[in-house]
Amino acid sequence: MSLKKQIINYLALNNDLGLNLLFLDEKIKDNVKKKRPQPQIIAVEKEEIPTQTTNNLVNHNVNNEKITKNQAEIKIKEFHETNTQTLNINTKLYQFDSIVNLDDLSKQIANCQNCILGATRTNLVFGDGNPNADIMIIGEAPGSDEDEQGLPFVGRAGKLLTDILKAINMTRTDVYIANICKCRPPANRKPAADEITACEKYLHKQIEIIKPQFILALGLTAADALFKQSHKMADIRGKIFEYRGIKTLITYHPAALLRNPNWKRPVWEDIRYLRAMYDNYLQTK
Ligand code: SF4
Repeated sequence: MSLKKQIINYLALNNDLGLNLLFLDEKIKDNVKKKRPQPQIIAVEKEEIPTQTTNNLVNHNVNNEKITKNQAEIKIKEFHETNTQTLNINTKLYQFDSIVNLDDLSKQIANCQNCILGATRTNLVFGDGNPNADIMIIGEAPGSDEDEQGLPFVGRAGKLLTDILKAINMTRTDVYIANICKCRPPANRKPAADEITACEKYLHKQIEIIKPQFILALGLTAADALFKQSHKMADIRGKIFEYRGIKTLITYHPAALLRNPNWKRPVWEDIRYLRAMYDNYLQTK
């Protein structure tokens, strides 16, 4: 590692200058933005829903018929308006007991249509990283870039996550990154409760296979899905929870961080805390 990188890593780990280094790119963007009149930034979890949709052919529905994006979105709207029942999950298709590695699990669920999100995805986003990682990072669901590439956290928020890891001297290959839901909710809305219920068993199996020592949950959707109750971020961040015996830290989702720069400092504190716990673990290993 070059001397320059070592110095940056040292500063990143040891003082607030690291906070500035970590978000240097974002600060430059912030400054560029400040020169133009900007609409007021409101800290919300939801993305804006586009009013127009393309009419290109996408995917197949559960009956293997081709449907357009418009048709799929109408179907989803109707589904959520009229159907109050949980989807009938065909658990027989997915018996995981004999599965002991991520590749086999990925193959097993590649064609999953257990919830309505299967109809509109381009790619199922299974997860990425080190299958033997000590740290597992869990987000909400894929966005548009992730859906296109089939990989988690590859858009702007993903780049920020990569920078955050870099600031604690880690790369994406040191950790394993996955989401609660493996398919993109249309217009980047939050996954619905029935979609989380349909999908979370895949995450549970990933956790069982990877056996991480630490989980970093990004955002309230991920935290609430893991712990099966609603929280306020202010109440839970900066604390250690136990999830299935695994030390779990919760912080803001990088996408939320991009919308609200005031959350950069708490995230910085949280990831330094995670790094400190991890270093402690390595010493006692
Ligand atoms: S979100 Fe999960 S349960 Fe729903 S179709 Fe995709 S993989 Fe299957």
